[in-house]
Amino acid sequence: NEVLHLDAISKTYGKDSAAPVPVLKGLSLGVGKAEVVALVAPSGAGKSTLLHIAGLLDTPDEGRVILNGRDMTGLGDGPRTEARRQELGFVYQFHHLLPEFTAAENIILPQLANGVSQSAAQARAQDLLGRVGLSHRDSHRPAELSGGEQQRVAFCRALANQPALLLADEPTGNLDPETSDKVFDVLMTLVRETGLSALIATHNLDLASRMDRVIRLGEHG
Ligand code: ADP
Ligand code: ADP
Repeated sequence: NEVLHLDAISKTYGKDSAAPVPVLKGLSLGVGKAEVVALVAPSGAGKSTLLHIAGLLDTPDEGRVILNGRDMTGLGDGPRTEARRQELGFVYQFHHLLPEFTAAENIILPQLANGVSQSAAQARAQDLLGRVGLSHRDSHRPAELSGGEQQRVAFCRALANQPALLLADEPTGNLDPETSDKVFDVLMTLVRETGLSALIATHNLDLASRMDRVIRLGEHG
């Protein structure tokens, strides 16, 4: 019962060039329901490529991407974008919050874009902010928040549309070690409480060890 299944994924950049770069070779992995999987990889091993393929932003040369039992591989941009909006949440090293909007608005807007009513979106934003301990920061703009607070708002935004799977790329990588630890705990609690599945890339082996399973990506897939 997997939320995400990557089946024998291969990806080579510059396939037809004089110097092709093979990145992933026959890679398979699965993320189960409510499972949190760490993705640990040396730089250049293809972590971003893998997350882009899992996030339906890029397509593999070979292999299949199965999301909630549905084969996404051959689908066009329309259904892929829709699945991205409805079933996936993204968190990056940098928060990417909209600077001119408040914390609450940053969590409300993606819901409105998804057809949720203003009142329901507002209620969900307040609930999420409460879960990450930021109810008192709802009217603040990103620039008025600390780095750790910005990331916590970004977690809420990623969960705004109740995705089935969270894809995170070094979600606390920009924070000092002590803040990183605390903010990571907040993320894990949020993920556990909402029963979310997650694939989280990190270089931090201590953080990786707190997840359910660790997948290591070698130098060449
Ligand atoms: P990681 O995120 O693990 O550092 P990436 O997935 O970004 O690795 O990249 C893996 C390898 O593929 C690297 O050698 C990188 O230089 C190469 N690469 C990434 N994107 C491209 C691209 N668009 N064209 C050619 N090579 C690429
Ligand atoms: P729109 O901009 O109309 O909302 P997009 O296709 O750009 O539609 O975005 C759909 C979803 O995919 C959004 O949740 C967005 O955050 C995510 N997304 C779009 N582009 C990228 C990207 N380059 N990297 C990661 N996530 C992306």
